[in-house]
Amino acid sequence: MSKKIKLTLLKLAELCGIFALCRYWYRHHLRVLCYHGFAYADEHQFRPKLFMTPQTFAARLQYLANSPYQIVSLSEGLAHPDRPLQLALTMDDGWSGTSELVGDALAKHKFPLMLYVTSYYADKQIPVLNVAVSYLLWKTSASALHLQVPGVADSIDVSLPSPNTAVLVKQICQLIDQLPEAAARAEVLYQLADQLQVSLHQQGRPLFRLLDADELRGLQQANVELQLHTHRHCSPLDAEALATEISQNRQWLAQFIPKEQLVHFCYPSGEYQQAHLPLLQQNGVLTATTTHIGLHKQGSDVLQIRRILDGEDVHWLELEAELSGFSNLVRQVLGVAN
Ligand SMILES: [Zn+2]
Repeated sequence: MSKKIKLTLLKLAELCGIFALCRYWYRHHLRVLCYHGFAYADEHQFRPKLFMTPQTFAARLQYLANSPYQIVSLSEGLAHPDRPLQLALTMDDGWSGTSELVGDALAKHKFPLMLYVTSYYADKQIPVLNVAVSYLLWKTSASALHLQVPGVADSIDVSLPSPNTAVLVKQICQLIDQLPEAAARAEVLYQLADQLQVSLHQQGRPLFRLLDADELRGLQQANVELQLHTHRHCSPLDAEALATEISQNRQWLAQFIPKEQLVHFCYPSGEYQQAHLPLLQQNGVLTATTTHIGLHKQGSDVLQIRRILDGEDVHWLELEAELSGFSNLVRQVLGVAN
């Protein structure tokens, strides 16, 4: 269905009062909204679900402020299933724009927000490699790429655009990751950006950076709660490897809040299997959010909390269709719930 037809149908549903009916019908379901990063330049065109313009995000917060939804923390929303129309805000990864671009908007509203921080790149303060490389390949108009990493025997020589960008991104990252020092990896990345004639800076500020310690502390003042998202943004099924990921992440975040309060988790990239659930419990995780779309029915598994993914490409009618529960109803009727 084209987006235009979809929006027309949603507008009709709204005008007929179906959104309002669904809002009432699903009033005791918890709405959990999910955000990621923000665009300094054109990152919202590169990945509209990963990067939103600060203007759109500020408008979203204002929309929520004027809405019938009660903005609560995730813990509060789960603790009071009897309260109607509760909505919790979550944000994944901890991109630097959360402070530099939308910090003022967050401070203005002071809505409770759970920020799941992946700590490796936050600690190293170099661009997130796979995302930065994907952006370079998306943006460049160069017809070839040559990558030689100092001290590494392998090299990459390819024509662009690549027939399989995802594979090329992986190859480039594997090559650069052979450098043990983070600073050296960043240097190679910036050299590659120069070669491809794409800037990884906007007005002197680096793109694809995660929040540093000072910025994270500043966000805590704006009612932002920092929680777990693994150290290296992965959720291995191997019990020991997952325990290491969570404990390194918890250890790093313990500089901001006591370890015993770091009990909320978000699956990196939304990837998980049923076998993860007991492993999370063994590692002291009390709640976990997924990227399964929908509302959280109170009483259902708190280690598999559904969320609504907002993005630059999401029209406000589509957002309200999700928040009201209308889209939930449609998916149930059509039998397409994920
Ligand atoms: Zn993530």
